[in-house]
Amino acid sequence: MNILILGSGGREHALAWAVMQNPKCDKLIVAPGNAGIAKIADCASFDINDGGAVVNFAEENAIEFVIVGPEAPLANGVADRLREAGILVFGPSEGAARLEASKSFTKEVCDAANAPTAAYGHFTDAAQAKAYIREQGAPIVVKADGLAAGKGVIVAMDEQTALDAIDDMFGGAFGGAGAEVVIEEFMDGEEASFFILCDGKTALPIGTAQDHKRVGEGDTGPNTGGMGAYSPAPVLTDEIAQKAMDEIIRPTMDEMAKRGVPYQGILYAGLMIKDGQPRLVEYNVRFGDPECQVLMMRLGAQAMDLMHAAAEERLDTAKVNWADDHAITVVMAANGYPESYEKGSVIKGLDGQPEDSKNMVFHAGTAAKDGDVIATGGRVLNVTARGASLQEARDRAYDMIDAIDWPGGFFRRDIGWRAL
Ligand code: ATP
Repeated sequence: MNILILGSGGREHALAWAVMQNPKCDKLIVAPGNAGIAKIADCASFDINDGGAVVNFAEENAIEFVIVGPEAPLANGVADRLREAGILVFGPSEGAARLEASKSFTKEVCDAANAPTAAYGHFTDAAQAKAYIREQGAPIVVKADGLAAGKGVIVAMDEQTALDAIDDMFGGAFGGAGAEVVIEEFMDGEEASFFILCDGKTALPIGTAQDHKRVGEGDTGPNTGGMGAYSPAPVLTDEIAQKAMDEIIRPTMDEMAKRGVPYQGILYAGLMIKDGQPRLVEYNVRFGDPECQVLMMRLGAQAMDLMHAAAEERLDTAKVNWADDHAITVVMAANGYPESYEKGSVIKGLDGQPEDSKNMVFHAGTAAKDGDVIATGGRVLNVTARGASLQEARDRAYDMIDAIDWPGGFFRRDIGWRAL
């Protein structure tokens, strides 16, 4: 099969790595890719958010299956354009991608599906939003309705912070994304990520993970796209996962089908767990980054068969072969991240790294220049390992990091602390 993966991060490197291990893959192209991906697949450059451009490229290159990595092409209807052209695609339609692109849509679906989540109000008027905050009191959570690159959520521990967030959002801090806000009840508990493959009718869980959002050790400092992750997430026990499937995931899928926007692709549910009860924090319509890296390391080659089965609506007969293992990924980021950071620093020590089914350095933001690998992004490398225990995997990941020579970057030494 000729396969095209859209995206350029560590998530797409991990997807490409898993796909390449599957003998059913004859040819793999990643667009736009990065320096690490270029070592295992062909890379191509075109606008991946333009459905027409993606269809043209797929037709010219006899692509038979497209895997969409990030949310932006999905929210732009790229999967719809591919389906219209008769090309098999893994990823939800524009309508179904609203589960990530609109927080008020997700809350409405949860209401209709009776899925446990935070109580909320939805506002397009600043004065009404403020009145609701005063009535509810703090702590309270203010969210810009649309996509805001993870920066549109303010968890306000006092009322004034929440009121200020309304001024910011209606003042245009998030562009169009802030002209509508969702204000939510603050949920206490432990967060975990739950990943479910969906084909519109059947939902198949493929793993759990937890990530570290804060830049600093001990989960301190500003939020980032994620500084590391591990799978499985011990807090998401089999019993709680079953509850989440019965009370949240399947009812959501049924409701989406009822609305004429059946969900097909990976559904990434952010859950808040307290006293054995999961509640939905958010849905994402793509794999998490860096959670994808640990999921791919655990699933290996079967990941491609599973995504293919989802695209062909055959998940009712699909099965996950679980290994009793643990995986961890540690993010190496450019000095300064998540604020402004330098680009172009040279990374050494990558050549001698093990690259096998238990150890991989996935590239997130790199390019090749004059024979060197240079950093081109904030989050740059995802050092990933798998082992019989989390401790074993973690020790190996940090050994790999110790062999990387990159004065321009930093990482957290405490990834996985919660689970150890
Ligand atoms: P991302 O996709 O980057 O995780 P997002 O912008 O889609 O972020 P959410 O996931 O909805 O936003 O919220 C970001 C974080 O804020 C959550 O991971 C959680 O820690 C916290 N949060 C969101 N909603 C609530 C809530 N109702 N109660 C407590 N914490 C919350």
